[in-house]
Amino acid sequence: MRVLIIEDEARLARNIAKALKETRSYAVDISTDGEDGRHQAFSNPYDLIVLDLMLPKVGGLEILASLRREGNRVPVLILTARDATQDIIQGLDSGCDDYMTKPFDMGEFLARCKALVRRTYDRPDPVVRVGELSVDTSSRIVTLRGRRISLRAMEYRLLEYLVLRAGQIVSKAEILEHLYDFNAESFSNVIEVHISALRRRLDTGSPHALIHTVRGQGYVIEETPA
Ligand code: CA
Repeated sequence: MRVLIIEDEARLARNIAKALKETRSYAVDISTDGEDGRHQAFSNPYDLIVLDLMLPKVGGLEILASLRREGNRVPVLILTARDATQDIIQGLDSGCDDYMTKPFDMGEFLARCKALVRRTYDRPDPVVRVGELSVDTSSRIVTLRGRRISLRAMEYRLLEYLVLRAGQIVSKAEILEHLYDFNAESFSNVIEVHISALRRRLDTGSPHALIHTVRGQGYVIEETPA
C-alpha cells in the first residue's frame, strides 16, 4: 500500500511516515506544501492520503475538493489542528473519509489508516483468507495451514497487496506503483525477485501453488482447485 502525507510540519510528517513504515504495510511519500501535494496526489495511485488543512500555497480543503471534482476516490484522512465542529463538518462535506485532530494518538491513527485501506479494497474483515493461507492485516500475522510464516518487510507488503486483491490479476506496474515510494531504488526485475522469495516461503510442502503467473499480464493469488 502506498500513502501520501501532505503536511508542512516536517518533523510531524517524518514521525507519521516512520510509524506507517514500521507497520510494514506502507510505502510513504511526503509533500510539505499544498501545491506539490496536489501534484503528487494526481500523479500516483495512492491507497491513502493523510491531509493537513493549513498548508502553504494550496490549502487542504482545496486539494480535497479538486481530487473529488476529478472523480478521484482515494481515501483521505484529514489530520489537522482545526478541531471546531464546523471545520470537521466542512471536511466531511468536502469528501474526506475520516478526520482526526492534533494532538493525536499514533496507535489510533494507524488503526484508522488500516480501516480506510481495507474499505478501499472492499475487505471489511481484517483477516483475509486464500485457501489455507490467512493474512491478518491488523496484527500482520501470516499463517499457512495453521503454521506461522515469518516474512521480510517487502514480502509482507507484497503479500498483503496480493491478498487484498485475491482472485484478480495484478500487474507488475501496479505492484511497483502501490508498494514503492518515489525515493525507492528499484531495478527492472525487483518484482520477480520478491515474488519468487514469497513463493519459496508459501509454497513449500504444499501440493498447490498460491501465487500464479499470468503470462504477459502479472500475478494472481488464489486457491488452486484440488
Ligand atoms: Ca499545517
